[in-house]
Amino acid sequence: MKLAIPKERRAHEKRVAATPDTVKKLIQLGFEVSVEKGAGLQSSITDAEYEAAGATIAADAAAAYKGAEIIFKVQRPLHAAEGDLDEIALVEPGARLIASLAPYADTAMLDIYAKGRIEAYAMELMPRITRAQSMDILSSQSNLAGYRAVIDGAYEYGRAFPMMMTAAGTVAPAKVMVMGAGVAGLQAIATAKRLGAIVSATDVRLAAKEQVESLGGKFVMVDDEEAKQAETAGGYAREMSDEYKAKQAKLIADTITKQDLVITTALIPGRAAPVLVTDEMVESMKPGSVIVDLAVEQGGNVTLSKLGEIVEHKGVKIVGHHNMPSRLAADASALFAKNLLNFITPHVDGESKALNINYEDETVSGILLTRDGSIIHPNFISGGN
Ligand code: NAD
Repeated sequence: MKLAIPKERRAHEKRVAATPDTVKKLIQLGFEVSVEKGAGLQSSITDAEYEAAGATIAADAAAAYKGAEIIFKVQRPLHAAEGDLDEIALVEPGARLIASLAPYADTAMLDIYAKGRIEAYAMELMPRITRAQSMDILSSQSNLAGYRAVIDGAYEYGRAFPMMMTAAGTVAPAKVMVMGAGVAGLQAIATAKRLGAIVSATDVRLAAKEQVESLGGKFVMVDDEEAKQAETAGGYAREMSDEYKAKQAKLIADTITKQDLVITTALIPGRAAPVLVTDEMVESMKPGSVIVDLAVEQGGNVTLSKLGEIVEHKGVKIVGHHNMPSRLAADASALFAKNLLNFITPHVDGESKALNINYEDETVSGILLTRDGSIIHPNFISGGN
């Protein structure tokens, strides 16, 4: 059975959906792996390394997709309106497309997958259950994004992070605040601590308190009755009431003026990111301070952030880089590729090497958008969510 690894064609995307290590393991499972020429170059993987792992190199996208029954990708394929190459037209009927498909942002594609009889698996919908941790692309990529946000923030900040006591005087430690203490936020806290900063963090989920404190951060939050219900059964945050938002805005306004670097990571699945930092709050910060908005691709936590730009407002820099995980493409690809391998492995029969997808398994039913020509995911069937 042919498994294809096409080159990523979307802007700002340097990752790739397989590494030589995962190629070897996919071949052991029984797949023939075809990697499009040059697919790994931006993640520092050469065609020769893929070949040495047992893959064949396809000359172009058409050759990679041809006859492929499984396609591993980082991002969804382009369709006709998006670029010179209509990649989606190359996906053969019945093929399984397993990738980060952004189904909320690009719902129109679901009809195209259904019409093309593509089985489309949106890996970002993976349930947050213990068994699925090794398949969780949001966690693996957010972890790297949280790390990189601090590195990028430190780069833009014109001062040192750790306290330095020198003969010429003392350099004060930087104060870092992390808003949203999920996977990215916790890694940002850990990274800023390692660099010597004084770190605080906030979240709407009470469960985050212990995690922040265990990393040596100070936890600040609006702790009211509503906060006790802020976490969904899936472990995500709910959208909070206007009353809660007003209390939270006051807390952030009081805290943010003292910060040198603010990292915002707050997301609510399927919705625009909550606004946490207003223009006035930015204006209350010291010149030279930096904000990194990791939620900028989902609308942003900071009113002034702009996707793909570093905005300077009254001496404060607001960083809105595209695709943070791709800024660490080699590591991000290695973890993403491993997530995909871990997802498919239980569905291959060890002896016959046949693919035998267990559609009852919640790691499948939780992420499968389309099958047999129809949209089947409950969040996307009309009236769903
Ligand atoms: P996320 O990316 O959806 O959001 C980032 C953080 O922002 C979350 O901590 C969220 O609570 C917070 N947030 C949302 N709205 C906010 C607001 N208005 N103000 C402040 N903070 C706000 O979250 P995530 O990083 O994907 O993690 C969500 C949860 O899932 C965490 O508890 C995490 O530990 C858990 N998790 C579990 C598994 C697993 O068991 N398989 C895997 C990964 C994550």
